[in-house]
Amino acid sequence: MKNIREALPLLQEPKKIFITTHHKPDGDALGSTLGLYHFLIQQGHKPTVVSPSEVPDFLMWMPGIDTVLNFESEPKQALKVLTEADLIFCLDFNNLSRIKSMEEPLASASQPKILIDHHLRPDEVSFAYGMSEPEKSSTCEMVYDFIQIAGGEKYINNEVSQCLYTGLMTDTGSFRFPITTAAVHEMIADLKHRGLDHAIIHQHIYDSWSAERMRFLGYVLYEKMQIFPEQNIGIIALSLEDQSKFKISTGDTEGMVNYPLSIESVTMAVLLTEKKDEVRMSFRSKGAIDVSTFAGTNFNGGGHFNAAGGRSKDSLEVTLKKLKELLNIPLN
Ligand code: 5GP
Ligand code: MN
Repeated sequence: MKNIREALPLLQEPKKIFITTHHKPDGDALGSTLGLYHFLIQQGHKPTVVSPSEVPDFLMWMPGIDTVLNFESEPKQALKVLTEADLIFCLDFNNLSRIKSMEEPLASASQPKILIDHHLRPDEVSFAYGMSEPEKSSTCEMVYDFIQIAGGEKYINNEVSQCLYTGLMTDTGSFRFPITTAAVHEMIADLKHRGLDHAIIHQHIYDSWSAERMRFLGYVLYEKMQIFPEQNIGIIALSLEDQSKFKISTGDTEGMVNYPLSIESVTMAVLLTEKKDEVRMSFRSKGAIDVSTFAGTNFNGGGHFNAAGGRSKDSLEVTLKKLKELLNIPLN
């Protein structure tokens, strides 16, 4: 993978550009792809953001979200955009397996692929050019850096700012995780000088819940959260039945894994969500506990030191048992 600076000549002339991100996109995934979209479109390029799966409700307000194609529901249109593209940007994922059903078409696409990502251990051979910086708070911060590298500060308009602030805010847990550097705050200061209204973005993301989602959270914390003080672990396991009791939609479990971690004695939290074909897992930790390696070694996943994901093809019950054994939690 060559330095992303070497890809800049490719952007001298207007290009058709396919921009994608990981399956089940979150604030950083859509913030970074749409931020890049709004940056490129002002320079005469024809960018299209393609998401491997549905956009969650809590991000439906984002500028440009109506232009995003969903590969799962619009595969023909998405593949047409891919075939016609001159360039491919891959944002906020480190390995093509993270785009699920889009993996095959993207792996066989011959156009240059450019990576911008902050996950550990990128699969560099899949990308012609890129920046991979696990020490960065978010891919949104890296798109901001890329804009500087490209000398494009004048294109940081309100749309770009709103999109980039979104991922910066969500991936840093509203600027509280240790990864929140001085550079993050300097970036925010710059966006504020350019006129960004940050409060509206917090409101869109954190104060726009449905009553059902709030009741679902109450139910989960009361009925489903298990705390193991001796091991300093908190676990939430949600079966399909639990999920069907409430009218919840994609993204409604977002952030739920952080609740056990708010308990003083808990240093590692795990959320297991049963899906039709697998169990999705989210890991979070405080301090020196490396959940990325834990997820990678045991549950086909990875991510960051203090926030990672994984999956299991076993049943929810078997996955929970395996997890407890690995964490020395007695099985009752
Ligand atoms: P979440 O628990 O919010 O789904 O994921 C936490 C973090 O880990 C996010 O940055 C996400 O992109 C990353 N992540 C989730 N699943 C995987 C995975 O299977 N592999 C890798 N490398 N990263 C993951
Ligand atoms: Mn991210």
